[in-house]
Amino acid sequence: MRIVMLGPPGAGKGTYASRLTKRLGIPHISTGDMVREEIKKQTDLGKKIKEYSDRGALVPDEIIIKLLAERIRKPDCSGGFILDGFPRTIRQAEALENIAKIDLVINLNVPDEIIITRLSNRLICRECGAIYNLLTLKPKKDRICDKCGGTLYQREDDKPEVIKERLNIYRRQTEPLIEYYTKKGLLRNISCNDLMTPPEVMVEKIIEIIEEKKESS
Ligand SMILES: [Zn+2]
Repeated sequence: MRIVMLGPPGAGKGTYASRLTKRLGIPHISTGDMVREEIKKQTDLGKKIKEYSDRGALVPDEIIIKLLAERIRKPDCSGGFILDGFPRTIRQAEALENIAKIDLVINLNVPDEIIITRLSNRLICRECGAIYNLLTLKPKKDRICDKCGGTLYQREDDKPEVIKERLNIYRRQTEPLIEYYTKKGLLRNISCNDLMTPPEVMVEKIIEIIEEKKESS
């Protein structure tokens, strides 16, 4: 099954997608990770992408679509995939349709207060990139990574003022997309209204939706 995960930054898309991957045996494709990987590998495309990001410009849709088309042609995607971070606009959704038929769109609804509380408590290891949370996943020692002993810090993006702005942008951008997929009959909503809901519980709910969809198609 080809699944798109929609949801605001901090809704847990990445966490759920990586768990779903293990359960369903289909890959998690994060366009953000793909772009970073391409820059790291210093491919021609990667160099082009870096030019855009160095200028603070958005990477053009055509480049992302090209990367994505290559990615989903790989054999591990033959049984489907979970796409996270794309599409964000109707134009992108239309471009996606040209390279893959999407079966299901899961829309994570999480109230802003929960996201702000969750993200403003997030810490990241400077050395290995491990993610901690002062509410749900505390490091054993204050501001020190359990895995590598590196220092933990808060990303600029995770400060409350910045999060509020990111959420506003997200809502403005994706509202039309939600309508677009609803009209196509592909969208299923799932809500998380409690900050302390463990990821496993959310993953079970998502799996139920996927099973229902499988039975109905
Ligand atoms: Zn670390």
